[in-house]
Amino acid sequence: MDSRSGVDRALPIHIRRVTKTYGDVHALDNVDLEVRSGEFITLLGPSGSGKTTLLMVLAGFTRPDYGSVRFGDREVIRMPPHRRDVGMVFQNYALFPHMTVAGNIAFPLRMRRVAKGDMGERVESALATVQLDGFAERRIDQLSGGQKQRVALARAIVFEPRILLMDEPLSALDKKLRDHMQIELRHLHEKLGMTTVYVTHDQREALTMSDRIAVINHGRLVQCDAPRTIYDHPATPFVANFIGESTLVPVEVTDGRAMLNGQALGLSAAPPAARCRLMLRPERLTILPDGGHPEYNVFPGTVREVVYQGESFVAWVTLRDGTEVAMRGISQRESLASLPAPGREVLLGLHHEETVLIPDADDEGAKA
Ligand code: ADP
Ligand code: MG
Repeated sequence: MDSRSGVDRALPIHIRRVTKTYGDVHALDNVDLEVRSGEFITLLGPSGSGKTTLLMVLAGFTRPDYGSVRFGDREVIRMPPHRRDVGMVFQNYALFPHMTVAGNIAFPLRMRRVAKGDMGERVESALATVQLDGFAERRIDQLSGGQKQRVALARAIVFEPRILLMDEPLSALDKKLRDHMQIELRHLHEKLGMTTVYVTHDQREALTMSDRIAVINHGRLVQCDAPRTIYDHPATPFVANFIGESTLVPVEVTDGRAMLNGQALGLSAAPPAARCRLMLRPERLTILPDGGHPEYNVFPGTVREVVYQGESFVAWVTLRDGTEVAMRGISQRESLASLPAPGREVLLGLHHEETVLIPDADDEGAKA
């Protein structure tokens, strides 16, 4: 890849009010999204939430009923896929099995009528980028899943597109290879600098790879923020449940104070709405020793069960009002030696700085 594929060629994507229905199904419902130039953004949502549809709209394979998509200053809604300057990795890779690796990678160059003399060099360069040097003459059906994934990626970047779209490209790989490829794709993005829209239903993958995550549910954009903001300050109960684990407990807000079981909560920020829920993430809770803990909200309860999970353990605690809460601890020598026994009374603590309220939302349809 030459310097033209660097950040200077990247384009922002402006998605405005994009709507697509299939019969009664709102695959996309009035989606607004701004992707910054050179950004790696991930569309994250459950199966059927509209992720592939949005990617297909960007690639030009699906025409929305309504709305606008601009790459930089250019409206592209009516532009055919091969004129959009977009590389795409499809979920099932969509490679041509009867062709060689080189034949597959050269395909977009032939579509774009690149001179024959330039093709070999560009194919070689793309193969080197995905670390498949020497594989040019292999047949697709002689490759492993991870190698096919790399060929699909090479085919998407060989014409040095300004925008790269990927639809669950790692979902067919086993966990070890997936973890490895997540980091590799991230490095490749840093190197090539293309504006990248990545689709996954795997929240950990989204947290690992993205500059920002756009959470989608029922065809609607629910929240778009950096991974830590999404995780620490989910905009809705759906986001809190879909990303990470949490127990959400309704709290009453009166005079700007959040009350839980008659106790005023110490908070990291003022309550965001009149109806809120307290987010209890397992790893943010600790078991406190007896005594005063002015910086913590303290929830007394009884240990119901403790599950050892290797690197961590989970204790299920029943609070006095009957709420079941999970707390997670790292398996270190001291914590394992003092694992709480079922039946024991404990004080669960949540630091004020980590006490986050989420505005209640009642229009989210099916909750995760
Ligand atoms: P995701 O990729 O998030 O799993 P999709 O974008 O594939 O979701 O689908 C969103 C919704 O639109 C689903 O309910 C799906 O069944 C529907 N849908 C997608 N494509 C079509 C199509 N070509 N015809 C009819 N319904 C479709
Ligand atoms: Mg999909």
